[in-house]
Amino acid sequence: MRVAVFNTKAYDRRFLTEANARFGHDLTFLEPRLDALTATLAAGHEAVCVFVNDGVDGKVLEALAKAGVRLVALRCAGFNNVDLVAAERLGIAVVRVPAYSPHAVAEFTIGLLLAVDRQIPRAWSRVRENNFALDGLIGRNLHGRTVGVVGTGKIGALVAQALCAGFGCTVLASDLHADPELEAIGVRYVPRDELLRTAEIVTLHCPLTPDTYRLINAQVIAEARDGLTIVNTSRGALIDTAALIDGLKARKIRAVALDVYEQEADLFFEDLSNEIIADDQFQRLLTFPNVLVTGHQAFLTEEALSAIAETTLASIADFANGKPLANRVDAALIAPAR
Ligand code: NAD
Repeated sequence: MRVAVFNTKAYDRRFLTEANARFGHDLTFLEPRLDALTATLAAGHEAVCVFVNDGVDGKVLEALAKAGVRLVALRCAGFNNVDLVAAERLGIAVVRVPAYSPHAVAEFTIGLLLAVDRQIPRAWSRVRENNFALDGLIGRNLHGRTVGVVGTGKIGALVAQALCAGFGCTVLASDLHADPELEAIGVRYVPRDELLRTAEIVTLHCPLTPDTYRLINAQVIAEARDGLTIVNTSRGALIDTAALIDGLKARKIRAVALDVYEQEADLFFEDLSNEIIADDQFQRLLTFPNVLVTGHQAFLTEEALSAIAETTLASIADFANGKPLANRVDAALIAPAR
């Protein structure tokens, strides 16, 4: 199948090309992000392959349909950047990679939590300046802390397990469905508002839906425990960034670790080291000593990239062969508010 691969980085090209030796699709690697302007580049391709920050709204989908595209293959798990209702209306199928390596994201989440709470990046900068003073680097043990895990799907379950069984935390969880295996090791499901009021650390692993949009907001922060630590490796818009900044300034929040950011589409995955960043909110976030930001890299392991390439190309092959699409997403997947 002829596939236009948008937003291609060197690692995408490498892992997709390696996996494609087994599938034989005709892949066109394109550097631009998919948007209303670049959609015309898909002309002559039956499928497009896109990533988290490609904008696949109704307008883009209409342009893709006009260009002859019949399949959008997301090389990621999240699908909040696709207008699934418009895709259905236009007869464009959408597939994703529901699971590639949940371990990649779960392990990075624990890494971020430890790094921000024990101030490892700050300590490393000091040591590089021959400053071995420990003032200001006091952390807190994870053992015995109460951690709230929002969303206990593939990634959240691994995080909950590691924190509960590995680090000896008290783990509270919130999800649409309880996981009996987590309950068996002592994870306790509670309503989301109770979790957000009770936890000392909150880590987000639910998808971005209308129900979860800005689930960390001014009111939640005001009602949270003093000294809250927040980790987000899921989607940026789960957090109201302005409220987060206010919470940090008020010292209500102890620490924040983010691998995702509400307005990341304008920043992440690009080398902007010679640019002026116009996003004042993002720049303000970076000034806090107790905030750690990474550029959406939790997924970035060799195992995950191989699995992403394999699953994406297999879904495209299934589509080409008229087989059922096991990884199809449609509007019905967006969970109703609860
Ligand atoms: P998953 O579908 O296995 O799990 C998501 C869980 O969230 C499910 O158990 C679901 O029931 C639950 N959920 C849905 N709505 C909820 C709500 N309103 N409140 C609480 N829970 C709710 O997904 P996953 O593979 O574990 O991925 C989790 C998220 O991580 C994805 O949605 C994606 O946005 C993000 N992600 C980030 C990276 C990265 O590199 N930073 C990589 C992969 C995935």
